[in-house]
Amino acid sequence: MTVAGVGVSPGIGHGPVYVLTASVPEPPEGATYVGEADEEKARAHAALEKVAADLEARGVRAGGEAKDVLAAQALMARDPGLAVGVDALIDRGTAAERAVYDSFGTYRDLLTSAGGYLGERAADLDDIRDRTVAVLTGRAMPGVPDVAAEPYVLVARDLAPADTALLSKDVVAAFVTEEGGPTSHTAILARAMGVPAVVAARGATGLTPGVRVLVDGAAGTVTVEPGEREVAAARRRSESREQALRAATGPGGTSDGHAVPLLANLGGPGEVKAALANGAEGVGLYRTEFLFLDRKQPPTGAEQETAYRAVLEAFPGGKVVVRTLDAGADKPLAFLPPQGEEPNPALGERGLRMFRVHPEVMAGQLDALARAAEGLPARLQVMAPMVATVEEATWFTEACRARGLTSAGVMIEVPAAALRAGDLAAAVDFFSIGTNDLAQYTFAADRQVGALSALQDAWQPALLDLIALAVGEHGRPCGVCGEAAADPVLACVLVGLGVATLSMSAPSLPAVRAGLAGHTLAQCRAAAEAARAQSTAAGARAAARAALPRLAALGL
Ligand code: PEP
Ligand code: MG
Repeated sequence: MTVAGVGVSPGIGHGPVYVLTASVPEPPEGATYVGEADEEKARAHAALEKVAADLEARGVRAGGEAKDVLAAQALMARDPGLAVGVDALIDRGTAAERAVYDSFGTYRDLLTSAGGYLGERAADLDDIRDRTVAVLTGRAMPGVPDVAAEPYVLVARDLAPADTALLSKDVVAAFVTEEGGPTSHTAILARAMGVPAVVAARGATGLTPGVRVLVDGAAGTVTVEPGEREVAAARRRSESREQALRAATGPGGTSDGHAVPLLANLGGPGEVKAALANGAEGVGLYRTEFLFLDRKQPPTGAEQETAYRAVLEAFPGGKVVVRTLDAGADKPLAFLPPQGEEPNPALGERGLRMFRVHPEVMAGQLDALARAAEGLPARLQVMAPMVATVEEATWFTEACRARGLTSAGVMIEVPAAALRAGDLAAAVDFFSIGTNDLAQYTFAADRQVGALSALQDAWQPALLDLIALAVGEHGRPCGVCGEAAADPVLACVLVGLGVATLSMSAPSLPAVRAGLAGHTLAQCRAAAEAARAQSTAAGARAAARAALPRLAALGL
């Protein structure tokens, strides 16, 4: 059996399925059991002990402070008072899972009424309760396992950035989600980690936990229980493509010498190594909000300075484009909540709009950036996300200038900005097109909704037209840092449209470098023209491919 989706991070992943359950359903009220009370009690005690042992083992593996926290949680699961409460309910005929659920409820009420530190532990109790109920009802325990005997294929409805940010390639063989499009954050983080990923895979969460699957992150397929030969053939295909890509090295550019600096998109200093290994010439998008996703308090100026400096130091002489916090919508930051209830968060207070409400946070970030760059040879450029008007752009540029930050730019992510790029150009030093959001806002299609992925396709001719408008003739350099730049075919088209630099997740750099090096600037221009002459995304892609003859030979 094969589940089909959209491949968003190339490569082959093979391993057992782990289904991430968002929540464990409440066992039905009044649930009873058949059989002896003692057996039911033994079942409940065994489940509690299993949860306690699992928490303890995780603590030992994690070490440090986490060890104490998890040991305390294990103690809660082993609390004799809790077991007495569970037994009493079972004696009255209640099924073990409901007895556990209700007994934890009593404890929870006690803690909540105590308030303060104890009140905050109520969430821990809910977690232990859900884990125990999951064991008793044969479900996977909630949460993402951070260690495993062998890398697993993580299957979920969707993944929050905080879920995936804690994982690594050693633990996860591939990501498969039912929701999410090519520009969703699952896709972006998977590419950054170099982990194969398939999104918009309908029915994937119905896969049996533990069953082995083969994930092809380029084809977008998930094959259930593949044969050994099939796995070996898939691995060979992906290895020979990798080899062809490794052969292309050096700075980015077309075969006739038109330079196109190839830059990396980063979420933090931890990704610098992969960027350098893939030959990034600098950083085209440093997503600073990824540094602070799980923070309840704003990061201090000193912490920020350290995180920025680490990246600036890694690219002496190269340019490093740092984006100020893009909080809100798909990247919520706990310390920067929107003012009120937002029915449409993507159309709400996000990006630069959030700074209009919290100017002190922007000031702190710009100050930290200015300090971080002091005395370093890297060329720091600072840009703001979600800018729609000249007033916003001017406000941002002036704030940068006031701190001696000499290169201030804006992202073009809202159609209004692309339409009026000429006016914005007078207010800023450079542009960077965020094709992920530009597609979302042009097609009114939420980038997190997998069912709408066809509308987030950067090949849509309307999007190509907006990019051409944004590049314009205004004399300001314009890069692309959205995921469109990571598609080696589209990358050639973007260069043909006049885009100056391309920035992408590090693992995508070799394919883009090879694609560009195989064609002249005139071929890229012809491909762009051919694509824009089409009226559908599929037509645009096919027309561009036909105009770029070396792609097929490179396996791109
Ligand atoms: C974009 O929108 O294209 C972009 C690069 O920003 P992000 O994906 O972080 O929203
Ligand atoms: Mg964006």
